[in-house]
Amino acid sequence: MSQTHTYDAQQRTPWRAPLHELPVEVAERIAAGEVIERPVSVVKELVENALDAGAREIRIELRGGGLRLIRVTDDGYGIPEDELERACQRHTTSKISTFEDLSRLHSLGFRGEALASIAAIADVTLLSRALETEGMGEEHAAIWATLRGGEVTQRGRRARLHGTTVTVRDLFYNVPARLKSIANPRTENRHVLQLVQRYAAGYPTVRFSLLIDERTIVRTSGTGELAVTLGELYHVPLGEMLYPVDVSESAHFRIHGYIGNRVLAQGNRHFVTLFVNGRWVHARSLHDALERSYRGLLPKGKHPLLVLYLDLPPDEIDVNVHPAKTEVLLVHEEAVTTALTQIVRSVLERSPATPEAVNFPGPALMSQRRLPGPRRRGLHVAESAEGYKVEAAQPGTAEVIAQLRPLAQLQQAVILAEAPDGSLYLIDQHRAHERIIYEHLRHMYAGVQSQEFTDTHLLLEPVMVEMKRHQADLLEQRLPMLRSLGLECERFGGRSFLIRSVPGSEGHEQLAAHLQELAEIASEDSTDWEDHLFIGLACRSALRRGRELSIGEQTTLLKALANVSAPAVCPHGSPILLHYSRPFLIEKFDW
Ligand code: ADP
Ligand code: MG
Repeated sequence: MSQTHTYDAQQRTPWRAPLHELPVEVAERIAAGEVIERPVSVVKELVENALDAGAREIRIELRGGGLRLIRVTDDGYGIPEDELERACQRHTTSKISTFEDLSRLHSLGFRGEALASIAAIADVTLLSRALETEGMGEEHAAIWATLRGGEVTQRGRRARLHGTTVTVRDLFYNVPARLKSIANPRTENRHVLQLVQRYAAGYPTVRFSLLIDERTIVRTSGTGELAVTLGELYHVPLGEMLYPVDVSESAHFRIHGYIGNRVLAQGNRHFVTLFVNGRWVHARSLHDALERSYRGLLPKGKHPLLVLYLDLPPDEIDVNVHPAKTEVLLVHEEAVTTALTQIVRSVLERSPATPEAVNFPGPALMSQRRLPGPRRRGLHVAESAEGYKVEAAQPGTAEVIAQLRPLAQLQQAVILAEAPDGSLYLIDQHRAHERIIYEHLRHMYAGVQSQEFTDTHLLLEPVMVEMKRHQADLLEQRLPMLRSLGLECERFGGRSFLIRSVPGSEGHEQLAAHLQELAEIASEDSTDWEDHLFIGLACRSALRRGRELSIGEQTTLLKALANVSAPAVCPHGSPILLHYSRPFLIEKFDW
C-alpha cells in the first residue's frame, strides 16, 4: 500500500525557509477562517450588518445548507455607490474610526472584516441602494458588483428600493478542508434556524423571514412585542406562560425580557437567549450564573425558555475579545450576575405547573396560532439599601395560596383547593411540606430563629451511626452546625457516632429511621453538603403521601406554604402546585 498520503510527524522539514511575506490571497484565506467557520457564521455577519443598517425587515435565504447559496436582503440605509466595492476590503468599516470609538460602540460590527473574509472564500454579489438616492431617478438605481477571490468580476445597475442584498455562492470553494468538514446540509440548516430564531427574539421590532430551500421556515411580524415574536417562532400560544421582567439598577444596567414559566422548560439550552447591548452573547460567566439560578428549581437537565436583554453603558463592556464576537467581558459582572440570578429565581420559584406540557414543534410545523391572554404585570423593583430587590413576579402567588380553600384530599396525597377566582389548585402534600421544612431549616441556620423549630426532640433511644474513616473526621468538624439544627450528635469512639436528638419539627418521629443516611449527607465532601442536608432532613420528615389530612390540617399546611419564598417547587426541583385556570376550564368544557 502506498504511504505517500500519510502524514508523518517524523518527516517534518528539518531546514528553515527564509522569512517571506505570505501571498495576500493566502493570508486572506487564513484570516477568513477565524471569522467564518461554517455557513451560519456568514448568516450571522450578514444579519448583523443588516441590523447595523437599521433594517426593519430582513430576509434570509439558504440553499444546499448554505454552501450553494446564502442571501440576505434588508431594507436598511444601504451602501453609497462609491463605497460598494471597497466594503469588501479588509479593515474597511463605516462604524468606527478610532480605537476610542470602541467604548462608545452602538453597532454590532466594527472590525471591517466580515465581508472581506466572506469574499476571500466564496463568490459574493453585493447589490445596494443608499437611502439618500431614493426617488432620485434611474441614474441612481441600485448598483451591484460580483467578486470572486476578492476581485470584482462584474458590475452593473438595477432597479430596487433602498437597502442591501448580499448573495454568497459556493462558500469554501477554495478551502477544501473546510468543505469536507461540513458533511450534512441539514445540520447547517439547523444552526442557521437557531441563529435566526435568536436574532428574531433579540429584535422583535424587525420582520424576519428565513427560507430554506425555498420553504419559509420562520416568519415574524416585527410588532415589537417579544411575546408575539416568541409565539411566531415556536408556534405555541405562550401568552400566559411568559413573565415579563424589567429591572434596572441605577445607571449601571437594565435587564428586561421574558422568562417562561416551568411548563415551558425544555431539555436543552437552545431557548436560553441572552442579548448584551443588542449582541447575542455566549458570555460564560453570565450563562453559568443563569444555570446556577435555576438549578434546583427545575428538574435536572431542564432549562427555562427565556429571552433577556441586558443593556449597559457601552464603556462597561468589552466586545473586542473574539473575532466571532460572541464573547463579552463586563465591568460590573458580579452585580449583573446577581441580578440575573434573582430575576430568574423569582419567576421559577413561584410559577405553578399547568396540566398541559408544552413541547415546541419543529420548524416543519408552520401552523400559526394567535396569542391569547392579556399582558402580564412586570416585576416590581424596590430600591433598597443593598441595591435592588426583585419582588414577586406573579400576581401574588403567595396571596393566592393564602386564600386557597381546601376542598378534599385525593389519594391521601394531593390537596384539592379552590382559589377565589374559581380556579382549581392541586397541591402535592409531601412536596409542600418538604418545601416548608426546608426553608425553615435554612432560615434557622442563617440565624433567623423560628419558634417552631428551636426545640429539639430528644430520642428516647439514641441512634448509633457508623461512618467511614474520611467521613468521620468531616462529621466531627460539623457537629456544632448539626447541633444548631437540633441534631444533637457526639463521637462515640472510633468511627461511631451517637445521635441523641433530632429537629423537633412535625414528622420528627420519622427521622430516627434515616439517621445513617443523614449522617452520610452531613459528612459529604462537597461545597453544598449543607443544602443537601436541609433537603434530606426536609424530605425525611415531611408528611408522607398516604397520610390522611383533615380539612383543618390541610388549611394549616396551605397557610404555611403561602409564607415560603418558593411555594411552587420542592427542594428537588419538582412542582408542588398544579393549576387548572378558569380559562383552561372554560376551554376544555366549552362553556
Ligand atoms: P463591519 O460590519 O465590521 O463594519 P463588514 O465587513 O461587515 O464590517 O462590512 C463593511 C462595511 O460595509 C460596513 O461598515 C458597512 O458600511 C457596509 N455594509 C455591509 N453590509 C451592509 C448592509 N447590509 N447595509 C449597509 N451597509 C453595509
Ligand atoms: Mg459587519
